[in-house]
Amino acid sequence: MTHTSVSPNGVDALLLDYNGVLGLQPSTGMWTRLADLAEWPRPTPPLLPRSLLGPRNAYDAGELSDLAYWAKVLGHHPGARWLRTLLAADTAMWTRTDPRVLDILYCARAVGLPLVLLSNAPAHLSDVLDATDWRRDLMSDALYSARLGRCKPDSAAYEHALATTGVADPGRVLFVDDREDNCRAAAELGLRTLHYAGHPTDLEQQLLPGPANSTRS
Ligand SMILES: [Mg+2]
Repeated sequence: MTHTSVSPNGVDALLLDYNGVLGLQPSTGMWTRLADLAEWPRPTPPLLPRSLLGPRNAYDAGELSDLAYWAKVLGHHPGARWLRTLLAADTAMWTRTDPRVLDILYCARAVGLPLVLLSNAPAHLSDVLDATDWRRDLMSDALYSARLGRCKPDSAAYEHALATTGVADPGRVLFVDDREDNCRAAAELGLRTLHYAGHPTDLEQQLLPGPANSTRS
């Protein structure tokens, strides 16, 4: 399958990270609530509890169930009700979107640019994101690490996603992520990259008609 380039910079498809690009980072209040639920000392973001982050990659990769993940985080198995509460609080932290970014993506989609989500996310969050309006309206496909069994920056995650775009030349696919290591891995495969720093105009300049921005990174 081939696509006619519709962006001003010759981008034929877009691969998008979720959190930190479409998705807003959790608020301090959200971290505090999770800390209270998990009975931790209150965290000072971005210095998050090591116990929370340590097993997260395995959780994102689909190697741990919700129960197994939270048992590792807490150091013991939570009861069913506590697990449901933790899961709901954790999921709520990752489901708020940036309307400025969504507006740009709706414009890009309207002119025919294929958009594919490539997110490191556990299975439950993947299901929640898949049920959103923006996922249905914007994304031609969505790949989640828990389903792939691979997390970015594993090259296999990008290769799966690139195949999904239907664009053969990775140099005509723009990968957008707020993590530099993820962008570096994408660039090593020949993808264009935008290391997103929270400025929607950076994305807009890459995708929509306007002053040309031919910078490649
Ligand atoms: Mg991110």
